[in-house]
Amino acid sequence: MPLTIKRRNELLSGYLKQYNIVHPIHKDRLMKMLSFHPRFTEDVIDLDIEHYMRNNCFVLVYKDGSRSRISYRQKTNRECENQCFRHLVWRQIVDFRKGNPEQCSICKIKTCDIHVDHVDKFRDLITKFKKAYNISGYLYVGECKDNEGKKFVDDKYNNLWKDFHKEHAVLRILCAKCNIKIR
Ligand SMILES: [Zn+2]
Repeated sequence: MPLTIKRRNELLSGYLKQYNIVHPIHKDRLMKMLSFHPRFTEDVIDLDIEHYMRNNCFVLVYKDGSRSRISYRQKTNRECENQCFRHLVWRQIVDFRKGNPEQCSICKIKTCDIHVDHVDKFRDLITKFKKAYNISGYLYVGECKDNEGKKFVDDKYNNLWKDFHKEHAVLRILCAKCNIKIR
């Protein structure tokens, strides 16, 4: 029976929870779990386990000797995805900030210490987006490194999300105090 992505994720996080570190004797098992990753092609011949132990990410080794990193840290699929959702709409947030006075929309104080707030929670917006496009589980994020453009591996979702956010996100300017108060 082929593994679904959801099942693979369950197996992998279950494994990582159980063993804490990955062990070379489990390589075959891990390769099976990772085989659903979009970069896991027929040309993959090996998995660099040592690398995982040092950097919390797996490295696929291809027939021609090239290598590809797959980030997989326990419990961070969601973080990784969330960062990507935010990163993709960063430009919209900056533009909103530029186009609005530096005045809190609740207490009306004028300050340069402002935050752009989502009136409806960002998490809820993501949930709506996933519902609208029938996305179950997490969207894969390309290499999840800091300070680098993040994109979903399935490219169509990048622009779909940007458009969705533009259409549905209700933004407002808040001062730091009000921003904390509403949490
Ligand atoms: Zn305020």
